[in-house]
Amino acid sequence: MNDGAHRAHKPAFPAGPPTWPLLDDDVRAAMLACYASGDWGRYEGAHSAAFVQALAEKFQTEQAILCASGTIAVELALRGLKVGAGDEVILAGYDFPGNFRAIEAVGARPVLIDVVKNGWTIDLQQLAAAKAATTKAVIASHLHGHLAPMRALLEQAHSLGLKVLEDACQVPGALIGGRPAGSWGDVGVLSFGGSKLLTAGRGGAILTSQADVAQRIRSFTFRGNEAYPLSELQAAVLLPQLDKLAARTHTRAVAAARLIEELRDVSKLQAGPANDPADLSAFYKVAWRYQTAEGGVQPDCSNPSRDRLICALQAEGIAIDAGFRGFNKRSANRCRVVGELSQAQAAAEATLVLHHPILLQNQEQTALLAATIRKVVTQA
Ligand SMILES: *Cc1c(COP(=O)(O)O)cnc(C)c1O
Repeated sequence: MNDGAHRAHKPAFPAGPPTWPLLDDDVRAAMLACYASGDWGRYEGAHSAAFVQALAEKFQTEQAILCASGTIAVELALRGLKVGAGDEVILAGYDFPGNFRAIEAVGARPVLIDVVKNGWTIDLQQLAAAKAATTKAVIASHLHGHLAPMRALLEQAHSLGLKVLEDACQVPGALIGGRPAGSWGDVGVLSFGGSKLLTAGRGGAILTSQADVAQRIRSFTFRGNEAYPLSELQAAVLLPQLDKLAARTHTRAVAAARLIEELRDVSKLQAGPANDPADLSAFYKVAWRYQTAEGGVQPDCSNPSRDRLICALQAEGIAIDAGFRGFNKRSANRCRVVGELSQAQAAAEATLVLHHPILLQNQEQTALLAATIRKVVTQA
């Protein structure tokens, strides 16, 4: 029998990527306690109140408002900033798709500007040129472990009369200038979606230290009952995760840095610009741009050579996917575009994102991951 040529290729990670959410005894205990107390079936209880307080403490904001998702948190945050019909909101041409829709949902119009060179975060250089008389706010998302420069952004935006919505859905636990990501903007948002670093399957939160912003959000969402609630059970399972966030953020940051460093000389993989070394990032995804010599990108930003590479990496048991599709192809009826968006387009065509759970595994797993990515990319 020929046991060489025809034997199926054995994946580097035969069991596939590590599962998420983690099996966590403290989460289990929280669920069981909710069952025993009956809180799982109640509208209201102590868990939500405790979680609100814990969030406000950890994120150093005056207020935290719980809601049903990160997606609705962005919309509610815009409402809190008094953005409405006839207004404009600036966002990057490469961002979470729901952020574009949230602007439309409040009756406002997206204004697209580019992302930084070789990166994924909004390019401040373009802010002033993008502002018109009706422009009210800017959305800045920290994406794929890359932190938007919040201090400079706030200064510039405020001097232009723009409010700042900070989307920290991908980076809970990150620190910028010593302060938590999510606490810098006039309003910040978090997600507790099923794949996110803090998870309850669904859920989100809005962070602000401005009483009027919080008040406007509460008067919109509270209709004798919460219109976009987070449940007691969700709050109960999030509390122990918040306690462990700092330690896990650190572990993931170490693993991500090692991975990026080990792959730095692979010419087809371009890591983004480095964050300020004094900052601590959080990694929901680790990203690279995949540079291929051949063109072949389709008009809709799909990229067959990237798709083939993703298939090959997934066949090794690695949780790698394409990044966001970007907004380059959005109809001009739906938004105002400032500049060429060439970096946003390149990001949409070339971004690869690695999902975070493997970053909590041991160093041997990270080394095997780096070696496997190197091999597959080099052979592609
Ligand atoms: C996941 C995500 C959201 C939305 O969160 P959901 O809770 O899934 O609705 C918003 N912005 C960014 C950048 C995200 O990654």
